This record gives sequence, structure tokens and C-alpha cells, in this order.
Amino acid sequence: MRPDPNTRITPPEPDAPAAEIYMRRALALASEAALDGEVPVGAVVVRRGEIVGEGRNRRERGKCALLHAELEAIAAACARLGGWRLWECALYVTLEPCPMCAGAIVNARIPHVVYGAQDPKAGCCGSVTDLFALPFNHRPQVTGGCLEKECAAVLREFFKKLRENA
Ligand SMILES: [Zn+2]
Repeated sequence: MRPDPNTRITPPEPDAPAAEIYMRRALALASEAALDGEVPVGAVVVRRGEIVGEGRNRRERGKCALLHAELEAIAAACARLGGWRLWECALYVTLEPCPMCAGAIVNARIPHVVYGAQDPKAGCCGSVTDLFALPFNHRPQVTGGCLEKECAAVLREFFKKLRENA
């Protein structure tokens, strides 16, 4: 985990073992996406120790730019919990959220985001920008670098195979 002075990333303590359990489920969803020909990103929403929403990237098959893992997990959690305010929830995602998903996280009032790999091209938790540092009406706490190596590896493997098959 690389501390970045420009972000409010905090170490994944003291709940690191639990965080890794949820991130492993998000990683499994990412691998499922890869098998389906999708860029491997997976996400889960957790409330009081229980996974209440899961999602993975479905952009290619769904032919839609909106089908990111986080949005699917948030939609599932809202449906399951019967409301749009996920104020008791944490979102775990294998890749640093993009601007669209960071916006959804703010809108859903999710208080805690845990991500794995950084995304230098689209990441909005400090890589390209830090949307959560702006004065919106809700500012989630962010923990980066949870199972970072594994989360980055599934992406690297996917793009390597893609190049080999090109
Ligand atoms: Zn996104």
C-alpha cells in the first residue's frame, strides 16, 4: 500500500482481515467478468458484516457504458435494503472508482469505500482527481490498496491475454 499525500487514504486497519474477505469476493466477481470477456472489475456492498449487493463489469455484453461493477452492486444493495441511502454500508471494489461510480457512491451516501488497485487513467480517489475531497454534501472515507497486488494482477492478466489474442 502506497500512501499518497494527495488523498485521504487510510491504512486498512483495524478491520483488515474482514476487508480482505470482502475484497476476495469482489475479486471472484472480477474473475467471472474476465471469463465473460469483460475487463475484470468486481464490487460488493457490505452492511453490518453481510454482503447485500454484488456487481461486476458487464459493459461489453450489455453494450452499455453504464454497466460498471460498482453501479450494479449499489443497485442490488438499494433493491435488497429497500432504499437509496446506503449510509450503513461499505463498498469494496477491485479497482479505484471512475467519476461515474464515485458520483454514484456520493449519491448513495456510502460512508466507506475500499478499493484494490489504483487506476491512473480514470481513478477518482486520488489518481486522476479526488472527487471525495470536493465539498459535495457527502464525503466518503477511502481505503486504498486492499489486496492491491491480486486486484492489479487480474487486470494485467486480462490485458495480456487480450494482446496475445489480437
Ligand atoms: Zn465506474
